[in-house]
Amino acid sequence: MLSEELKNKYQLIIGLEVHAQLQTESKIFASDSTAYGNSPNTQISAITLGHPGTLPKVNKKAIEFAIRMGIACDCEISRNTSFDRKNYFYPDLPKGYQITQDKAPICVGGLVPIVLPDGRTRTVKLNRIHLEEDAGKSIHLAGEADTLVDFNRAGTPLIEIVTEPDMQSPEEAYAFLAEIKKLVKYLEICDGNMEEGSLRCDANVSVMLKGATELGKKVEVKNMNSFRNVFRAIEHEHERLIHLIEAGEVIISETRTFDASAGTTSSMRAKEDLNDYRYFPEPDLSPVFISDEWLNSVKSNISQLPRELHLRLVEEFGLPSYDAGVLTEAKETALWFLDLCEKTSNYKAASNWMMGPIKSYLNEKNLNIVDLPISTDTMAQLIELIDDNKVSFTVAAQSIYPVLLQSASETPIQIAQRLNLIQESDEDSLMLVVEAVLEENQAKVKEYKSGKKGLMGMFMGQVMQKSNGKADPKVATKLLIEILEG
Ligand code: ADP
Ligand code: MG
Repeated sequence: MLSEELKNKYQLIIGLEVHAQLQTESKIFASDSTAYGNSPNTQISAITLGHPGTLPKVNKKAIEFAIRMGIACDCEISRNTSFDRKNYFYPDLPKGYQITQDKAPICVGGLVPIVLPDGRTRTVKLNRIHLEEDAGKSIHLAGEADTLVDFNRAGTPLIEIVTEPDMQSPEEAYAFLAEIKKLVKYLEICDGNMEEGSLRCDANVSVMLKGATELGKKVEVKNMNSFRNVFRAIEHEHERLIHLIEAGEVIISETRTFDASAGTTSSMRAKEDLNDYRYFPEPDLSPVFISDEWLNSVKSNISQLPRELHLRLVEEFGLPSYDAGVLTEAKETALWFLDLCEKTSNYKAASNWMMGPIKSYLNEKNLNIVDLPISTDTMAQLIELIDDNKVSFTVAAQSIYPVLLQSASETPIQIAQRLNLIQESDEDSLMLVVEAVLEENQAKVKEYKSGKKGLMGMFMGQVMQKSNGKADPKVATKLLIEILEG
């Protein structure tokens, strides 16, 4: 563990490179399917394999998906964007080069607002977002001397989101990734699944003396398949780099791999010099011109962004920012909430139900809100039942809601009636209960009258018990006060 003193002596700096697989039906430069999970090497046209004489052709959808992300991240969208070859040898890269974007990426700059666990917000600067093709997959079977290669994934469109070295803690990196995942899912351009590799992250980490003007030498960590592991890898590098510097060693730029079970990293290779890739313009693809018209049509196809929905929930529905954050975490949840709010005007109650009983049920069953067996209509009726003082929230949540989850055949009021749960708020019949309770507790009544006001709770408890939990607490309290103080 690092001492606080050492931690405070150095500044941690992080830059992330996030690859997101775009959900297009076909590949970025060929018409082969991008479907996942088919038999190896069944989606591999001659273009995908880069046979001599074949020509790549750009998938328009991939360009549009990248533009969507650029708009959502406040990037400048390049009107003239072009592709480059990045040359390197790798068994699962059949062409010997990857088509990517170097000089004129589709999105330049950009800002991503993030929210930290303690509620603080800040904005992470992007360097760029560019398009590129994915490589194939090498498969090393246990006990086999040979490596197998599946090229189905080769040519799947990716965007690479490159941040500036602009994050200062593993918490910030985690929050950034969470935001990126939320955005790509809202935009419907990537399923955001990190475990399955549709979202991948490399973390660049360096440390420098606090107040230094020049960044320290960075290491790049690969091979992390969850946000949690990105966090752990950064924490590990933070300590390792400080220890190295303190021991008088020189940090070299290198690529390291994260071992999730050990929680440590180890060196893969010293970082290639930029020149080694010998980027040059892809001669088989002409630059892509993005007209005003095209840009506007992509813009108009973007439905609401999470931050716009967040603002709407706060301003239009008067919800606390915390609620708005939870409700806009996933697009389906936000849309379900908006639908519910068409049917009830008690927005805060709607939010409480969603963040409470509904969320727990969905978490427990590992379901999405669209799978909730209760409709927004029914939910609105349940909220109304409480607002009309027919049942308490507790009774609704503990006795009616579980029945609704089981079967959609009865309305909330029908269930309340069948189970005899309707709250007693009729003053005359409640008065009989209140009088009976006071009659049975004459000694306590005396104590109350001589100043032991705390006994009110005991009287209420008795009234509740006698009425089988159905006494309207407001009316019962009023009657008790009337008699005791009168
Ligand atoms: P490279 O040439 O090694 O690919 P780039 O300048 O392209 O480096 O940056 C790659 C990533 O590394 C970016 O996300 C960038 O923010 C990050 N980065 C660059 N320098 C540093 C540094 N000193 N510390 C932490 N991250 C850095
Ligand atoms: Mg780079």
